[in-house]
Amino acid sequence: LTILGLESSCDDTGAAVLRREGDKAVILSNVVASQTDLHAAFGGVVPEIAARAHAEKLDIMVEQALAEAGVALCEIDAVAVTAGPGLIGGVLSGVMAAKGLAMGLGKPLVGVNHLAGHALTPVLTDGMRFPYLMLLVSGGHCQFLRVDGPQDFRRLGGTIDDAPGEAFDKVARLLGLPQPGGPAVEGAARAGDPARFDLPRPLMDRPGCDMSFSGLKTAVLRVRDDLVAAQGGLSEQDRADLCAGFQAAVADVLAGKSARALEGQGALTGFAVAGGVAANASLRARLDAVAAAAGLPFVAPPLALCTDNAAMIAFAGLLLHEAGARDDLTLSARPRWPLDAAAAPLLGSGK
Ligand code: ATP
Ligand code: FE
Repeated sequence: LTILGLESSCDDTGAAVLRREGDKAVILSNVVASQTDLHAAFGGVVPEIAARAHAEKLDIMVEQALAEAGVALCEIDAVAVTAGPGLIGGVLSGVMAAKGLAMGLGKPLVGVNHLAGHALTPVLTDGMRFPYLMLLVSGGHCQFLRVDGPQDFRRLGGTIDDAPGEAFDKVARLLGLPQPGGPAVEGAARAGDPARFDLPRPLMDRPGCDMSFSGLKTAVLRVRDDLVAAQGGLSEQDRADLCAGFQAAVADVLAGKSARALEGQGALTGFAVAGGVAANASLRARLDAVAAAAGLPFVAPPLALCTDNAAMIAFAGLLLHEAGARDDLTLSARPRWPLDAAAAPLLGSGK
């Protein structure tokens, strides 16, 4: 079976072709057009601009994905598309495009939950088996998911305010570093002393695996303002120390809560991470250690498959298709679509 996947829920327009070969799924192509430049001047993703750009780019991405895969459109057996959650205009653009393609081809359409795409990626990249624990940590999300099957997710906890990626981006802005903030903060932190400033580890001593990151960002703001008031500005070293301190606090919280999330889960096959923040090397090392302490393998997919991409949507769509899921022209775009209430809605997306 050869499946085409489309992704357009945020600021990346993606298309991918995947083929089932035995018990493996092979990525034949996975292309993405980023809108980062379009939104740069606005300091965040502008939904209206995003929707327009997705609508313009989807056809081109599909053509490119087919060409790179060396597959003709008529060889596609099914079309998978992100049907939510995300910015409604972008999701709608993708769903409309997918409906058109599926209709034109007379082939099945499968609506996919974007978060399920992220959460199932370790199965695609590392052949991970169920059940495993997934930490999804990106610009817009932060949650622990117990994954028991392609349609069986349980949310164990997550952020109650900002996602860590968002916090990295805001801290970079506070310190005059470029966007996206994650790589900039990580780079600056290399020359920094994480212990110089006393930054909070919110909710660390509370039971459960909920997290909070907005107070941490505010604490960075306060330290910056104190430094500016005392010495008129920030030195390179101040910046490096603040970045290192912030990054260490985020890693402490995520590692501490990961250990807690792994407790009492019974036998798991491993601990996996996905999302753009998973690119952070010091965070990866901490999470790896948490998994090792629990006697579990740690899986971090390659970055291009950790951030938003269509290959993960094609793969989740493939698993759903194999489970018998089929959507039709009534498939709707859902701005909100929590994963763990989704056991039934994942099949046929809500019907
Ligand atoms: P979502 O996938 O939740 O819709 P998104 O598209 O913003 O949100 P991703 O593309 O997965 O998320 O990740 C982008 C985020 O990852 C940004 O906030 C960015 O700052 C962060 N990030 C990228 N690299 C690093 C890094 N090395 N360290 C920390 N954060 C990072
Ligand atoms: Fe995402």
